[in-house]
Amino acid sequence: MKEKLKDMYKKMLSFFGPQNWWPADTPLEVMIGAILTQNTNWKNVEKAINNLKEKGLLDILKIHKMPEQELSLLIKSAGYFKIKAKRVKNLISHIVKNYNADLNKFFSLDTESLRRELLSIKGIGPETADSILLYAAHRPVFVVDAYTFRIMKRHNMIWDDIGYEELQELFMKNLPCDEQLFNEFHALIVQTGKQFCKKKPLCKGCPLDGWPEQ
Ligand code: SF4
Repeated sequence: MKEKLKDMYKKMLSFFGPQNWWPADTPLEVMIGAILTQNTNWKNVEKAINNLKEKGLLDILKIHKMPEQELSLLIKSAGYFKIKAKRVKNLISHIVKNYNADLNKFFSLDTESLRRELLSIKGIGPETADSILLYAAHRPVFVVDAYTFRIMKRHNMIWDDIGYEELQELFMKNLPCDEQLFNEFHALIVQTGKQFCKKKPLCKGCPLDGWPEQ
């Protein structure tokens, strides 16, 4: 497995080049982006984030004070905007109430505690929590998404009913514990999924065509 994953990474990296994720200026922007990107494409998220930025509202206390309905209208382009506004408010209010709105204090928790707290916030599931851990808090945690499941299944690398944590463990046990590697690896999987491993796969030309070599 170690060699196969190493080979998978090399093939995607040499095809696409470094992805330099996450496309955001601050950890707060990453966190909000990680919630807004649920069930939508990144272009729609960008519009919502830019809307907050242009109005000078990408700020913990400003979002905390803002009525939920106002926030939902500002992030409308991201889709499911009422649910997402609630989720953003839940996250922000957790940080305001428990860490005095200080993100550095929140991020001073060890990785396990930070993950547990993120998962205790309503609307934050494992993929969102791990995206925040990896891309905002810079912890060596592998992010699993729908493309990871799809690609690994289509290449017969995993069993059918494998769960999120099991698949995450498969990567983390077989790769060096390296934040930068996990950052790039996940970004490359997303790129491969978006461009080639769609519902109807476009294997011809895909960097993973023929992987793993038997
Ligand atoms: S598009 Fe085909 S070759 Fe590429 S990852 Fe999907 S199944 Fe594999």
